[in-house]
Amino acid sequence: MANILDNTIIHKLPKAIGVYILKDKNGEIIYIGKSFNIRERVKTHLTNKTWSAAPHLANPLRAYTNQVDCIITENEPEALIKESELIKKHKPKYNIMLRDDKQYFYVGFIAQDKKTKNNNLEKAPYLVITHQPPKTKNPAPKTYIGPFTDGKSLKLVLKYLRKVFPYYTKPHGILPCAYCHIDLCPGPDPDLGEYKKNIAKIKHVLQAKKPRVLSSLKKEMKKHVLSSIKPLPKIKISKLKYAACLGAISLFSR
Ligand SMILES: [Zn+2]
Repeated sequence: MANILDNTIIHKLPKAIGVYILKDKNGEIIYIGKSFNIRERVKTHLTNKTWSAAPHLANPLRAYTNQVDCIITENEPEALIKESELIKKHKPKYNIMLRDDKQYFYVGFIAQDKKTKNNNLEKAPYLVITHQPPKTKNPAPKTYIGPFTDGKSLKLVLKYLRKVFPYYTKPHGILPCAYCHIDLCPGPDPDLGEYKKNIAKIKHVLQAKKPRVLSSLKKEMKKHVLSSIKPLPKIKISKLKYAACLGAISLFSR
């Protein structure tokens, strides 16, 4: 089947970073992707007969795309998260086929096993990047967020997030690890309340619920500024760190 998309449509697309949405002639979304250059990427999809990521999908995508929508974002993390949100919402058929080919990534929040003899540590999940969440009917206490199409970008987002909200990447032992010393790890005896709040914020960022993260950070910062008049040795997170939080999170703002 010949591609019925008018070339002028491609030329009206922005040469900008963001998410593009391919629809068939009935307006049904068939594929969602992200790119640094939306126009070039869509052009590649619709003119090239090959697609290294999914050779078997190159022809159908060319043949059935009839309309293109796009959303411009400010940066790559924002494009990655927006793309994931939209794929989850619309479940486009070619994205589903790619997902089944295990080309996508998920962030898993995995419960630590019960050998640590530290109740707080056992209840503090660690984060992993995985290709496919296990297909089990009872996934608790594990949670998986995704799909994300780009493992490299996802690692970058998680790296930013870890600087702001330290988290575990594997079960933690009873002694401090190398990451404990550089403030990327909550240590062998975490403040469970604080850790859970941080995990919730990471999940909100990954699920594109940025306003919720921002408002809660602002609230905490205000509280901290007010309370820091009195000496509060237990509060490890300084005003400076909260300022850094807001800076890092503003990566996701438009
Ligand atoms: Zn550690």
